[in-house]
Amino acid sequence: MLLIPCPWCGDRALIEFTYRGDATVVRPKESDSDEQWYDYVYTRDNPRGEHSEWWHHTAGCRRWLKVHRNTWTHQISGSEAP
Ligand SMILES: [Zn+2]
Repeated sequence: MLLIPCPWCGDRALIEFTYRGDATVVRPKESDSDEQWYDYVYTRDNPRGEHSEWWHHTAGCRRWLKVHRNTWTHQISGSEAP
């Protein structure tokens, strides 16, 4: 069972969380091009290795957290408050 370290609740089971996406994506400015907005909304990388992700502790404290996970091994190296 995969355990995710919530900064507020400690290690909790994966089933309590909801994956919310890539935490490395930066929102473009309003004046940026349609292409940049398209990439922001629809395009995602599929990295192999260390990655930062947004998770929501849906069945717990209901807070957002940034989880650092290896997408190849699923090993979680840490988490932090947003
Ligand atoms: Zn929590």
